[in-house]
Amino acid sequence: MPDFGYAGEILKVDLSDGKITKLPTSNYADKYIGGRGIAARLYWEMVPPNAKVADPENCFICASGPVAGFPGFAGGRWVACGKSALLDQEAFTYSNLGGGWGVRLKYAGYDGIAVQGKAEKPVYLWIHDGAVEIKDASHLWGKTTFETVDLLKAELGKSASVLTIGPAAENGIAFATIFAEQGASGSGGIGSTMGSKNLKAIVVAGEKKPSAADPAALRLLADHVRKMRDYKAGPRPWEIPGVTRPQACYGCGLGCDRQVYSGKDGRSYKSLCQATILYEQPVKAYSGPKIEVQQLATQLCDAYGLDSAVMQGLIDLVGACYREGILSEEAACLPLSKFGSAEFIESLTGKIAFREGFGDTLARGTIATAASLGEGAQKLLSEFVATRGSETKDYDPRLFITSGLLYATESRRPIQQLHEQSNILRMWLGWLGKQQNAFFTTADFREAAKRYWGSELAADFSTYAGKALAAKKIQDRTYTKESLVLCDFRWPMIWAKYEGGHVGDPTLENQIYTAITGKETDEAGFIKIGEKIFNLQRAIQLRQGWAGRKDDRLLDYLFEVPLRKGELFISRDCLTPGRDGEVLSREGKTVEREAFEKMKDEYYALRGWDVNGLPTKARLEELQLGDIAADLQKQGLAK
Ligand code: SF4
Repeated sequence: MPDFGYAGEILKVDLSDGKITKLPTSNYADKYIGGRGIAARLYWEMVPPNAKVADPENCFICASGPVAGFPGFAGGRWVACGKSALLDQEAFTYSNLGGGWGVRLKYAGYDGIAVQGKAEKPVYLWIHDGAVEIKDASHLWGKTTFETVDLLKAELGKSASVLTIGPAAENGIAFATIFAEQGASGSGGIGSTMGSKNLKAIVVAGEKKPSAADPAALRLLADHVRKMRDYKAGPRPWEIPGVTRPQACYGCGLGCDRQVYSGKDGRSYKSLCQATILYEQPVKAYSGPKIEVQQLATQLCDAYGLDSAVMQGLIDLVGACYREGILSEEAACLPLSKFGSAEFIESLTGKIAFREGFGDTLARGTIATAASLGEGAQKLLSEFVATRGSETKDYDPRLFITSGLLYATESRRPIQQLHEQSNILRMWLGWLGKQQNAFFTTADFREAAKRYWGSELAADFSTYAGKALAAKKIQDRTYTKESLVLCDFRWPMIWAKYEGGHVGDPTLENQIYTAITGKETDEAGFIKIGEKIFNLQRAIQLRQGWAGRKDDRLLDYLFEVPLRKGELFISRDCLTPGRDGEVLSREGKTVEREAFEKMKDEYYALRGWDVNGLPTKARLEELQLGDIAADLQKQGLAK
């Protein structure tokens, strides 16, 4: 059968000896779809468990999915993975990016790239119409991401699409990003994986468009999806009338709240969600609202390649330590009395990216910084971080009980999973607050929970019942979604506004997959692939030292510090649906330790794992992961 939906090949590049090999995508596509699935399988095969981030054996892997190149589905995203230093221990990490680079990679002839080894001097990869060149990047090293994109486009032509790193990744910052055009940035610490290989950029160009097995069915599905998502929520804080304008990722076809604006230098910059509000509160407190200073903070993070989801908490911790007398201007060599100004954020980001003075401490993340400043700073952490990777607070398990399992079992903030619940909570809160056009009722919420998360109990935020099943279902669906790769701003279609009602259709993803690839599947079969990929990732984690149940944990404060009103932007009054759909406040709640451990028991049983969180041979074999079961068993990591 032709490679419907795929370019047909995956590229392997060894930067130590310059060797370039190609693998047929079909070796992987049936079992792992693409994106997250194929990237994780390549990682399992290529990266020895004891490899360090900076070792040549570590890999930087990128992959798009079969939907890339077919407009109308918000399906042009792509995934990168490798080992990173973001966590308290070096660990497998992944990242999911928009923009257009993933689609362009496919047009250049490849579904994925795995880069291993380490170049002797800075290089970039130039991949065009199937050809691959390793080129000198000495003139690019030390440049910002924006400068690098400009220089490479001048060198290779406007149609060349650039993925690059900034100085932060070159200098091994734990939360360095990768950056691609249209403001796409990839977090999880993956930037330093690329930087450690002396790989400054991967540039792609080509015209090889994929074909679909059933173009007519695909057109009908695109039309259906567009009608279901024909709804716009109210304006977002990063949408500034007269300043920003909508700009969808390349080939999206649906669009969302993604905005751009033109900077004074004529360059187009992104304006979207967390990346734009990361410095909002300090700016307001210092000078009153000044959107240009907020935007400067986002620009600087992108230019140096710093993860805004870590920077937000880090900025706030530094400000709080100064106010509490824990950190002085002299000790930090930062203009802390100007916290909230342009001068402060310029100084802070520059010091981190180049590891200057106190910047070297900050470069290890918010938790490590607090540890270096002592007990007073550590006590403040509960205000600013949600994960062991220092990522910012958002979809807190004291509000969303199910999120406790999502956070606990992942090596980084699983934002694509967290959005599944938070998106409909936001819709429901709009309805509760009688916002204009809001339509998603309590009955819709309960119906969505039944259809997508296993039972109406998952929509009752007063109880731990039903949450283990909900977490498993969210994870398995997310892993198929991130393998296709569909965007989490639009998928799953858990809410909708069309003649069919307000709750979407959980079979759409498998219908799209079948129309593109020609491979027949149903919802259950398709989600099972997500379960397989989730278990593959679990195997990767265990093999590199994740201690099963012991490491499936949350930060301590979530068990100890009650949730306050105004603490979480998603529901400032802590409101959620409760028993039988009544409105509930989670104010004052913590995660209950005993109930959390019981929820883990239930979750492990649903996963077919033992009480210590180790997979069983039987379940892995059922998921066609027999080779992985054998490997884990040899090391006592599977029952
Ligand atoms: S929905 Fe938004 S973020 Fe997602 S692919 Fe489309 S434009 Fe990009």
